Amino acid sequence: MARLVILGAGISGQTAALHAKKRVGKRHEIIVISPNSKWNWIPSNIWVGIGKMKPEDVTFELKPVYKKAKIPFIQAKAVSIHPEGNQTNPKPFVKIEMTEKGKEGEEDIVEYDFLLNATGPKLKFEATEGLGPDKNSLSVCTYSHAEETAKKLDELIAQMEKGEEKTLLIGTGHGTCTCQGAAFEYIFNVEHQLRQKKVRDMARIIWISNEQELGDFGMGGMHIKRGGYVTHSKVFTESLFAERGVEWITRAHVKKVDNDEVLYETLEGEEKSVKHDFAMLLPPFSGVGLKAFDKNDSDITDVVFAPNGFMKVDADYSKKPYEEWEPEDWPKTYQNPTYSNLFAVGIAFAPPHAISQPKQSVNGTPISPTPPRTGMPSGVMAREVVFSIIDMMDGKADKPTREASMAKMGAACIASAGANVINGTAVSMTMYPIIPDFKSFPETGRDLNYTTGEIGLAGHWIKHLLHFAFIYKAKANPFWRIIPE
Ligand SMILES: Cc1cc2nc3c(=O)[nH]c(=O)nc-3n(C[C@H](O)[C@H](O)[C@H](O)COP(=O)(O)OP(=O)(O)OC[C@H]3O[C@@H](n4cnc5c(N)ncnc54)[C@H](O)[C@@H]3O)c2cc1C
Repeated sequence: MARLVILGAGISGQTAALHAKKRVGKRHEIIVISPNSKWNWIPSNIWVGIGKMKPEDVTFELKPVYKKAKIPFIQAKAVSIHPEGNQTNPKPFVKIEMTEKGKEGEEDIVEYDFLLNATGPKLKFEATEGLGPDKNSLSVCTYSHAEETAKKLDELIAQMEKGEEKTLLIGTGHGTCTCQGAAFEYIFNVEHQLRQKKVRDMARIIWISNEQELGDFGMGGMHIKRGGYVTHSKVFTESLFAERGVEWITRAHVKKVDNDEVLYETLEGEEKSVKHDFAMLLPPFSGVGLKAFDKNDSDITDVVFAPNGFMKVDADYSKKPYEEWEPEDWPKTYQNPTYSNLFAVGIAFAPPHAISQPKQSVNGTPISPTPPRTGMPSGVMAREVVFSIIDMMDGKADKPTREASMAKMGAACIASAGANVINGTAVSMTMYPIIPDFKSFPETGRDLNYTTGEIGLAGHWIKHLLHFAFIYKAKANPFWRIIPE
């Protein structure tokens, strides 16, 4: 019997754990370690952030689900990985710090035969002065941040109802942010909410982001097939902003957030500022800060992790220039190159480089999106990687048997642009492949038969339906496996 330890019970960790247990039964041991007692369907946090949902609508307690699935769950955060063991514990192990009520701060170790890192991102608010819910801006990255943000939005709406004009600034809070899609959803949900509350005319709504152009989304933008013609996501997105009266600032690195003003640097090197009464700005992401040590307890963090804290896997990290980027740079098996029993999936793996073309201001400040890893690819790679690991645990193979490269994978994404069963809308997008491949698709880098975009009410219904479907699946309810990742 071998033991697989999974770090993180988010979208990818939970997917990996449920599939792994289903496949191995009692043959092997699966253990999940994660610091929060609750599971959170993060994509619906934007609806918590406008008050359309409550935290309890997007979360559930993890313990009962793991009990039902017969998977041991340890509520703790991993602190360090010891892939060679050490003098006291010769087997590979993870050092953990308990977060469960009553045991907070207690340290322990958990030995493993295979380790899957699915720890997601650290929200790096500290990268920008004044950024974050503890300082001068708001966030929808966690359900509690989103709940706080909804309260602030309600207060603002009440002031607008009394005739006060307000400026809302929504977007990215640093030049290296990712996840523009989440901020995009939030800005259009806020815009819709203000219309519903009949105060839209009292609000100036401004988008601020590190994208070169609207519609980049950290994917380098995309050409989409729509109706009978092909258009670029820049045109599609600009029309939506213009139609809804939302202003935009792009190519911006937010340097400082005050409670009524944001200072930013542009790609041209200019320092500018914008006043606001409400700023929801996403932070940049990094790895969660796991350390690694060898058998002599020497620090080998830089061997196992990239400088941004994400775990190194089978990607090409040679820092080649943009012109030489290739789909093959992207990982296929997500295996750590130094330790063959270590894997990382979802946001936790270190990408080889960005997808959008990197840009720096004339002052040398990086201002361009880092690559997003959305829910669907995170779930798909988690499932495939865990099946590879099981083949290795079963002794069927001594190397990974499955591949899940983002350069060979398609993705579907539904971005909410207003939540209402009658007059809501959402942008439904599909793309193939996620990583542009100009050898196979010389004109646009993606297959136009599978790269599409459409906005409409049906998209909202599907997005709402998916909210329930994914929570149903994550609860491991009957037939959960028929709901795709
Ligand atoms: C506001 C918002 C809206 C979004 N909307 C969409 C959307 O509409 N569609 C979409 O596809 N994607 C969306 N995303 C992206 C999506 O949430 C991510 O792709 C997905 O969560 C990544 O999954 P993950 O498992 O890698 O990370 P996560 O889901 O973040 O899970 C990480 C897990 O690791 C745990 N963890 C952290 N540190 C440790 C540690 N030290 N030890 C052990 N465990 C640890 C965490 O508690 C968590 O359980 C959105 C993201 C945000 C922020």
